[in-house]
Amino acid sequence: MSMAVLLSMKPHLMAAWRDAMLALDPTLDIRMFPDTGAPEAIEAAVCWSSHDMAELRRYPNLKLICSMGAGVDHLLRPPGPPPGIPVARLVDTMLTTQMGEWVLLNVLRFHRQDLDYRAQQQARVWDELDAPVTATRSVGILGLGALGSHAAGMIRAVGFPVCGWSRRAKSLPGVTCFDGDAGLDAMVAQTDILVCLLPLTPATRGVIDARLLARLPTGAFVINGARGGHVVDADLLAAIDAGHIAGAALDVFEPEPLPTDHRYWSHPRVVMTPHAASITIPASAAPQVVENIRRARTGEPLLNLVDFSTGY
Ligand code: NDP
Repeated sequence: MSMAVLLSMKPHLMAAWRDAMLALDPTLDIRMFPDTGAPEAIEAAVCWSSHDMAELRRYPNLKLICSMGAGVDHLLRPPGPPPGIPVARLVDTMLTTQMGEWVLLNVLRFHRQDLDYRAQQQARVWDELDAPVTATRSVGILGLGALGSHAAGMIRAVGFPVCGWSRRAKSLPGVTCFDGDAGLDAMVAQTDILVCLLPLTPATRGVIDARLLARLPTGAFVINGARGGHVVDADLLAAIDAGHIAGAALDVFEPEPLPTDHRYWSHPRVVMTPHAASITIPASAAPQVVENIRRARTGEPLLNLVDFSTGY
């Protein structure tokens, strides 16, 4: 029996993924969900949050699940992937580049008092605010992985002091690195702009809560490009309304799409994008997926494997 790859994602993306994969390996037999054919033929699944993990239990010869994004929280939540099947995530330069741009855009937006100048423009107020000083505005990044370490380099290149927090101790050129619970408190206390680029796991859910926000200096900003579940929305809104936090840039929410009556939509100190900070480009991401399918067939070690014990 010839073996096949199942694609399951938003319908408008499937043809681009199929074409990008076939350009790399024209022998691939690609099935676009729900047209799967015989379940026995499916050996790999490339999917996103819309795909029900319970459905993947129908394929007795499945060897590999590939996330079509960097995050895998959507694949690991119950019921999770079929037992024993490895999950690979994307590590892709186009993803890290886009995220770095989105983070830098918002760091500069807050640093250059853009919320205040836009409000002044609305009110036709001609008023010069204090000069911003890059060298004294510290940016703290939660998560120093593929995205966080790249964003750290971009922010540092502009001249901001950069700190970062990871699970394991790390060393990155020009970045003051922290780890563990005590490290988080120490970093946050010296952070003027907090950036979240963590994976969403049981250990990181709700990390940006009232306790953490209270430890940020008054006038700090929050940027979340990771997952909505990292932020306790009521705590963030309360901290902004109290004037302790000066503003937030949010790309991710829980749930998505964000309900139209949510306060974030109209809050003058909140800038939103619709989970668009970094969008997977099939032609860029396909090579590692095709390579992983080849490796799964030959039994070679797989790339970018998720560690189920940590959830990322
Ligand atoms: P990585 O796995 O490469 O990096 C994760 C980082 O977070 C690592 O530095 C890791 O520490 C750290 N971390 C994990 N758990 C903890 C913890 N409990 N305490 C402290 N640090 C922790 O992920 P990526 O950089 O590729 O992606 C990060 C997230 O960004 C994704 O999971 C996804 O949710 C989100 N994302 C959002 C997108 C968007 O468009 N908005 C697009 C793409 C991704 P260590 O180094 O010690 O392992």
